[in-house]
Amino acid sequence: MTKADQSKSNQFKDTWKTRTKLIHDGVRRSQYGEVSEALFLTQGFVYDTAEAAEARFVDQGEDEFIYARYGNPTTRMFEDRMASIEGCEDAFATASGMAAVAGALMSVLKAGDHLVSSKALFGSCLYIVTEVLPKFGVETTLVDGKNLDEWKAAIRPDTKAVFCESISNPTLEVIDLKAVSELAHAVGALVVVDNAMCTPIFSYAKESGADLIIYSTTKHVDGQGRCLGGIIAGDKELIRGPVEMYIKHTGGAISPFNAWIQLKSLDTLDLRVRQQAATAMKLCEALDGHPALASVRYPAYKSHPQYDLAISQSEAAGTVITVDLKGGKDAAFRFLNALEVFTLSNNFADAKSIATHPCTTTHKNVPVEKRPELGLTDGLVRLSMGLEDTDDIIADILNALEAV
Ligand SMILES: *Cc1c(COP(=O)(O)O)cnc(C)c1O
Repeated sequence: MTKADQSKSNQFKDTWKTRTKLIHDGVRRSQYGEVSEALFLTQGFVYDTAEAAEARFVDQGEDEFIYARYGNPTTRMFEDRMASIEGCEDAFATASGMAAVAGALMSVLKAGDHLVSSKALFGSCLYIVTEVLPKFGVETTLVDGKNLDEWKAAIRPDTKAVFCESISNPTLEVIDLKAVSELAHAVGALVVVDNAMCTPIFSYAKESGADLIIYSTTKHVDGQGRCLGGIIAGDKELIRGPVEMYIKHTGGAISPFNAWIQLKSLDTLDLRVRQQAATAMKLCEALDGHPALASVRYPAYKSHPQYDLAISQSEAAGTVITVDLKGGKDAAFRFLNALEVFTLSNNFADAKSIATHPCTTTHKNVPVEKRPELGLTDGLVRLSMGLEDTDDIIADILNALEAV
């Protein structure tokens, strides 16, 4: 296949809707004309002549590769398709969600810079913000992400970036992304958003002003609990500039095999996530006012304290709900042990419904005295909606609550 034919096969059409882009965007067909995207499980690439090798190291073309840590055709398909559905110019894929969070922040910050971050964060994100970045001379200020006045007070003329989870894991706090972006951009700071809980399907990050949008593609993109992955999406200038430089030289590249699995998973992403979000809403309705529960939380359900903000930003709010059992840890454990459809694990966004007790697993390193301000109560259980029949999911939860 000639170069011209090849470029024809990866042309994006901006008019395509997300579901069409999820199937077709970024395709790079080999000379065999395969229908299903090919897995190029190769570390390196061959040059016809020494001159060709020299030329590629001087000026690497869009469809030319050098080494899989820098890029690979399968990985590039995944990056292009993710960038396309996110409405961004480009994207860089990473070995995991944490490689993406660390890579994005390390690539745009340096010693002496100031970062403002919401404090309701996934444990490893909190570690990077409060332990890793300060070690390299980045000053960080933590704020209550729900409170715009705190963002306003914390963002200073020398603030270089703000960071948040658009919907926090596991407490499901919602950030007013447009308002925070306006405050950040007013001082020239970059907006870096971990959008994992929100999902690419319900994302509003780009149009709200986010400069770097991060996903743990381990979650909804894989969606079947198989492999780790991450993505950083944004303008070409940032992605092919500092982000690519940092990640390709520090070794955070995704395996082409994992990129291929996650690329193929994009075919069904929209269908899966919409089904899971619909189940989340139905489960909230079924649990509303249940006597064993102090709260039922899903940002797009009316009992959430930030419901108005959540639905003003997106049509849905991810695929995870939380319940807070009145009886604390004992009740939570009785409930968890009585579940039959739900799997006990610490991941989420799987085809299998998953229940997690954050305080004793994913968030056990958060000091006990810091938990209340983060909404981490002993009775809190995170419930990730799977793809089982919605009636079975609801019946399982109601049944297990009987055991409490
Ligand atoms: C899971 C998760 C991560 C980390 O992703 P990995 O792929 O496990 O490295 C980061 N941020 C959030 C919000 C997450 O839920």
